[in-house]
Amino acid sequence: MTKYIFVTGGVTSSLGKGIIAASLAKLLQARGLSVTIQKFDPYINVDPGTLNPYEHGECFVTEDGAETDLDLGHYERFLNIFTSQQNNVTTGRIYQTVINKERAGDYLGKTVQVVPHITDEIKRRMLSLGKDNRYDIVITEIGGTVGDIESLPFVEAVRQLQWDLPEENCLVVHLTLIPYLRAAKELKTKPTQHSVKMLSQEGVHPDIIVCRTEKPLNYEIRRKIAQFCNVKTEAVIEAADAPTIYEVPLLMVREKLDLICLQKLNITNYREPELGYWKEFLDRIKYPRTSVTVGLIGKYVELQDAYKSILEAFVHAGSVNECKVNVVNVHSEHITVDNAHEKLGHLDGLLVAPGFGVRGIEGKIVAIQYAREVGLPFFGICLGMQMAVIEYARNVLGLKHAHSTEMDKSTVDPVIDMMEEQKKVTKLGATMRLGAYPCAIAPNTLAHRIYKADLISERHRHRWEFNNSYREAFERAGLKVSGVNPETDLVEIVELADHPFFIGVQYHPELKSTVERPAPLFVHFIDAARQYSEKRSLQKVMGTAEGEMA
Ligand code: GLN
Repeated sequence: MTKYIFVTGGVTSSLGKGIIAASLAKLLQARGLSVTIQKFDPYINVDPGTLNPYEHGECFVTEDGAETDLDLGHYERFLNIFTSQQNNVTTGRIYQTVINKERAGDYLGKTVQVVPHITDEIKRRMLSLGKDNRYDIVITEIGGTVGDIESLPFVEAVRQLQWDLPEENCLVVHLTLIPYLRAAKELKTKPTQHSVKMLSQEGVHPDIIVCRTEKPLNYEIRRKIAQFCNVKTEAVIEAADAPTIYEVPLLMVREKLDLICLQKLNITNYREPELGYWKEFLDRIKYPRTSVTVGLIGKYVELQDAYKSILEAFVHAGSVNECKVNVVNVHSEHITVDNAHEKLGHLDGLLVAPGFGVRGIEGKIVAIQYAREVGLPFFGICLGMQMAVIEYARNVLGLKHAHSTEMDKSTVDPVIDMMEEQKKVTKLGATMRLGAYPCAIAPNTLAHRIYKADLISERHRHRWEFNNSYREAFERAGLKVSGVNPETDLVEIVELADHPFFIGVQYHPELKSTVERPAPLFVHFIDAARQYSEKRSLQKVMGTAEGEMA
């Protein structure tokens, strides 16, 4: 029978609940159990697709085209599994379901209420992934902080499930903060006590308390937390700050978080955790042989969470290449032809990120032109690919006013145009071209050398596309279409042959990059950046030598 672990958070947000949940899942998986994770978010948006990245970070897209919370990205990267629409539920979606049922008359004249109708719908969804016993364990992360008004129905659903399910099938892990007061030189347990009290007032008692802390928790502190929060001392887990999120599963194994869960859930058929691959991956991150500096151009570069999957894909690719990837933010608004070298000359690679809207567009185009002309490795994702197409149209095809109709509706040369199916769309939520689509790769291309396959599948999130009526002109001028959707002929990959590495993809390869399966495009991009950096250092040395000889 499937067992359920719930992860709640107290004291403050941003404690890394998603990473703790993913780490616990990883350890249980490494012990031979089948595990999945889901996230319940208390906001009213039906999904985060309509949220500005400034609000909630990146919108992660699953294979089946669900626009989800970025924590699902962590789940996939840690567990190397695919999640789906089912793995992310918001208050908005719960209410939408209940209201639709009410409109259909399904409640047979009853008054529809938060308890039991909303909580029943939450419970139904909390249990649904475990229904066919596909998983030994389903972990549910409850978004938000205990005590928030909007998370009450979720906590109430957990309370009821603690009662509904056999005791050994249900476990609650509560994540809190133990602040260190520098002036007093002391770790403080009071906020944790209060947050556990708050949770208890709502009827849920945690089995395990995971404490985020800057300083190690000694036995006395652990005992105090255990005593005042009514858990066993060994169920007080220290979650120290880690240099990388990928270290957290190893910290948790040392703290025996997984073993305590297994004990409480009365699971006995487990093995020693197999973490060999994980440790090798981590060693390569910690002790790289070389380093490269990659520029990330996007609209939200000051916000790390907006490009979470891209940044993580760089970590995965860096590990494969035994290379530290320093990602520097480049503000495209300030780039012009005159200062491009000054702004970009120190980079070993340039990634132009996905995005929407007109802000910073011209600077991106200039940056791409610079990368194309000087041979700087370039990688464009979604909007980044579209900008590369516009740059080529303007500067090589001579279509001076080429543009995307997203930015300029009446452009004379719409080299990027809205997809036919999108023209009928009137609503914003969940209406883009979303999720996994196949892509056929042409032989003897960079894309083929990278993927080593004729047919791949990658995830999408866009409304505009490469305009096929310009395809021949582009190909004649040297911009090769190396990947297309075999059913619709939509262009998926463009590349340049006479360049060390210049590739743009309409899809989002970062979404499928995991620790065990790093995205090939990122791996090769970093390899190209490393070669570029080496070549440049060599040129510098040669230049100095020549200078000395002269
Ligand atoms: N705004 C562009 C489109 O909708 C690109 C989207 C993206 O980069 N994800 O096609």
